[in-house]
Amino acid sequence: MDESKPNIFADIFDSSKGSDNLLDVMTNLLYGLESDCTYHIKVSRNELLNGCTKSISYKIRKFCDTCDGTGEADKSIPEQCTTCNGNGYIDKVKQNFLGTFTNIKTCDPCRGTGVHIKNPCVICKGSRVLEVLEHQEIFIAPNSTAHTITIDDKGNYIDKDKRGNLIVTVSKKRWPN
Ligand SMILES: [Zn+2]
Ligand SMILES: [Zn+2]
Repeated sequence: MDESKPNIFADIFDSSKGSDNLLDVMTNLLYGLESDCTYHIKVSRNELLNGCTKSISYKIRKFCDTCDGTGEADKSIPEQCTTCNGNGYIDKVKQNFLGTFTNIKTCDPCRGTGVHIKNPCVICKGSRVLEVLEHQEIFIAPNSTAHTITIDDKGNYIDKDKRGNLIVTVSKKRWPN
């Protein structure tokens, strides 16, 4: 198995039912999403000197538990969008006196997802992902200057149990110092 590919849908979907094309579209959609979360903290000079603990709240994206990330209320495999044939976009061919142009346009009925949700999950409304607030304590060591702290596995979910990182930038307040 290719470990670098998010495989939530491979777990959910029975490959005998879904077409390869559909799986590709789902995977590509996940690839487009940011895995790391960033947060910026400003602290006083005294806090940098003496060290401190900051409690932060930030938003993360996770897969909807209610529908197992399928978007369908009954957790079934979404159907391929018939307007774009699962591609998520439509080629629009335009002709004018300069020649023929192909415009690529996001598919409206499926909003670029390539799938048609028949009976949307009430929790995520068929979007398959939810934004939730996450809390984290940030420890700033004594005698530090402006720096970046990376907290592993506290970012967005990119797979069922695989997460990106939380990246916190710490800088000094201009005032009071
Ligand atoms: Zn479509
Ligand atoms: Zn859902």
